[in-house]
Amino acid sequence: MKYFFPDSQDLVDPSFDFERERRSTTRKRQRDDLYAHEVFSSTPFDGLLVSKGIVDGYGGLGSRYTLAQRHRLLRLGAPEFFRIDQAPRKLALMGDCGAFTYVKEEEPPYSVDELLEFYGGCRFDYGLSLDHVILLFKPEADASRDALKALVPKEMQDRRELTLELAEAFLRKHKAGKYTFEPIGVAQGWSPLSYAESVKALQKMGYHFIALGGMVPLKSPELLACLEAIDKVRKPGIQLHLLGITRTEHLKDFDRLGITSFDSTSPLRQAFKDDKDNYYTPERNYTAIRIPQVEGNPGLQRMISSGEVSQDVARKLEKACLEGMRLFEAGKRTVDEVLALLMEYERFYDPGSKKNHAEAYRRTLTDAPWRKCPCDVCRELRYHVVLFRGAERNRRRGFHNVWTFYQQLEKQLGLEKGSAA
Ligand SMILES: [Zn+2]
Repeated sequence: MKYFFPDSQDLVDPSFDFERERRSTTRKRQRDDLYAHEVFSSTPFDGLLVSKGIVDGYGGLGSRYTLAQRHRLLRLGAPEFFRIDQAPRKLALMGDCGAFTYVKEEEPPYSVDELLEFYGGCRFDYGLSLDHVILLFKPEADASRDALKALVPKEMQDRRELTLELAEAFLRKHKAGKYTFEPIGVAQGWSPLSYAESVKALQKMGYHFIALGGMVPLKSPELLACLEAIDKVRKPGIQLHLLGITRTEHLKDFDRLGITSFDSTSPLRQAFKDDKDNYYTPERNYTAIRIPQVEGNPGLQRMISSGEVSQDVARKLEKACLEGMRLFEAGKRTVDEVLALLMEYERFYDPGSKKNHAEAYRRTLTDAPWRKCPCDVCRELRYHVVLFRGAERNRRRGFHNVWTFYQQLEKQLGLEKGSAA
């Protein structure tokens, strides 16, 4: 089972000095900054998933790409743009339309021709057909025709029809245009049966590779029920890609039910979006230690400018935490001593909060998991990797999570994926 890492231009600056928090003055973002696959000696994924919706920045969502980057991607093609020859492992490039970015529109904002041109121009290895997400899950609708009528609004049923029509046009135009990437048909549905029907229809059209869309909001039992239904109609040799999974505890079930690849941003995002699960290890997840930058923290800035708290005191507490962590790593401070500093700063920058990180931090400091992690990020950053502070640290912790996740994936599935390390 292959893991595709969704691109949203998450790069790190190799010139960043973690002790002094300075960058090289000659740093050029586009030339010098590194992708996750350029950071590790063994690549922690099998391919990249690139969404047109993210490249273009559809609707209210700003693009993760600058205009110049977008032009470079289209001019150079994805292999060169992403410098995938720098990765120790051969990476596959998969393009999709990013249907979640336009889920609220009545119809997809792109045409099949535009999408084919985007995939062809980017020189992807795989391209997903144009689809429209159905924001509804009604397994009860499978009971009868009347149940379906009562539970699934016509516009949602239309979305499934439209997705199939678009897949049909996509395959036809892919052939006529002599595109060389492999086409992937997208299945949408609102229940196990409707998903299975979509897969059946796509197989009949001639697709050998099918992606399952719109399953991100589903709970695990719902997701598994859909995969079971699909498994019953799946023809031998059909490849199945699961789009955007957030739960990773069912990898063995996915494997058993014929999933051949999936993508997930969770390992990266949890590093800086989750309340507590910020740093992965094979045994458990740890909470990262928050030492917000006085300058970069909006809440703190507000309190300072309203005269509620003093900027000098804020700076002093922040500095004491950083220094405390440095001395802790050097064996010159105990867990309790550092914890006292961290909690004093937390009460200062987040006074009204009921969140108290004392117990979580104690665990992180006591176990010091970064000292045991063999990944390139932890070996280079040491304790800085667990500091919740600024994009350079937070993103690298995300990369570490991706790496750890991939190790687990290999182990759980017992796959010999071959590492270049
Ligand atoms: Zn690590």
